[in-house]
Amino acid sequence: MEIEKNIEILKACRYCPMCRNVCTSGNLSYHESDYPRGRGLVLDSIYNNNLEYDTDIVNAIYNCFLCGCCWSNCEGNYRMHELIKSARIDIVDSGNAPQVAQEIRSKMLSGKNPFGDDNDAYKAEEKKADILYIMGDNIKFNSHDIPRAVRDLLSKMNIDHTLLNDEPSSGKILGLLGFSKDSRELAQKLYDRIKEIDPKVILVSDPLIYDLLKNDFPSYGFKIAPATKIMHISQYLAKLLKDGKLKLKKSKNRITLLDSEFLGRFNKVYDEPRKILKEIAGDSFVEMRWTKEKALSAGEAAFIFNGRLFSDGHILGEKICKEARDIDTDTIITLSPAAKENLSRCKDIKIVDIAEFVLGQLSQGKK
Ligand code: SF4
Ligand code: SF4
Repeated sequence: MEIEKNIEILKACRYCPMCRNVCTSGNLSYHESDYPRGRGLVLDSIYNNNLEYDTDIVNAIYNCFLCGCCWSNCEGNYRMHELIKSARIDIVDSGNAPQVAQEIRSKMLSGKNPFGDDNDAYKAEEKKADILYIMGDNIKFNSHDIPRAVRDLLSKMNIDHTLLNDEPSSGKILGLLGFSKDSRELAQKLYDRIKEIDPKVILVSDPLIYDLLKNDFPSYGFKIAPATKIMHISQYLAKLLKDGKLKLKKSKNRITLLDSEFLGRFNKVYDEPRKILKEIAGDSFVEMRWTKEKALSAGEAAFIFNGRLFSDGHILGEKICKEARDIDTDTIITLSPAAKENLSRCKDIKIVDIAEFVLGQLSQGKK
């Protein structure tokens, strides 16, 4: 049993109510089994009482947003999201994965759009270049405006770059859904393609891909060359700014930033996006009430599957937009495609990816 590896988390959480007020899923459904303690209790029944995974338990495990809000508020530093990930592996191994997750798997393994719509993949020519931009599945199929903005930015600054022709699925989404073997096999294909390019910088906009490259690849034994830097676009732009290679127009519009779960909470990247936004907006850059490790979840690991799985992303988005209204700003800068998508139903607030925002403020190229 995979959950055995996280048995200490199970023991700690099953009788603990301390983080229930911050649990993203529990505060949407108000079902006891959608809070950390409830999940701990059902997994305790599986582990200690040999209960089988039935539909209710499977739903409780797949309803988790893997956001880590509970961990950020846990005095004992217990990573409930890791316990949930291991439970999903056990569910898959026992043949009880939700039907929709199985459909997603089969589409991903056959290279098709797994998101339940007809969007084509974003296409680009591959060439040798020092900078390799990796989209990830969500951007590849759902958020073409983000790679367009990134490429436009790089081109305007005369920075040579490439994308992968027919970029393979990273496997990250399948990993989060519990298909660990498939996930690793897909990641291997991406790793092999990266090695062919041998870039100096791997650039990403999707924090899920950042997390994959930074944490999953080493755990799989995949070794990115030590000289190769893995950077989120916000880190890369902050570095250009620091080196005097990025000149930005000032703005007096009040803007705020939504921290990313997989970039911030799980990888501690908080400062670089702020440096860019403060350079542009100065004192007009304002913080929402909940920031950094305490930021509200935008459902980054909840994907966009046309409401078939994780259909509550837009409700999370509305909660965040309310925070922005409370500080009198009408613009939220986002750091992930999922956050941008999940906030986009707030019609009175502009939701702008950081690359799009910087592109609009570019005043001159690289020196
Ligand atoms: S994550 Fe921490 S605070 Fe939350 S239920 Fe577990 S032990 Fe309690
Ligand atoms: S990871 Fe998020 S959704 Fe899951 S139990 Fe923790 S706070 Fe709740």
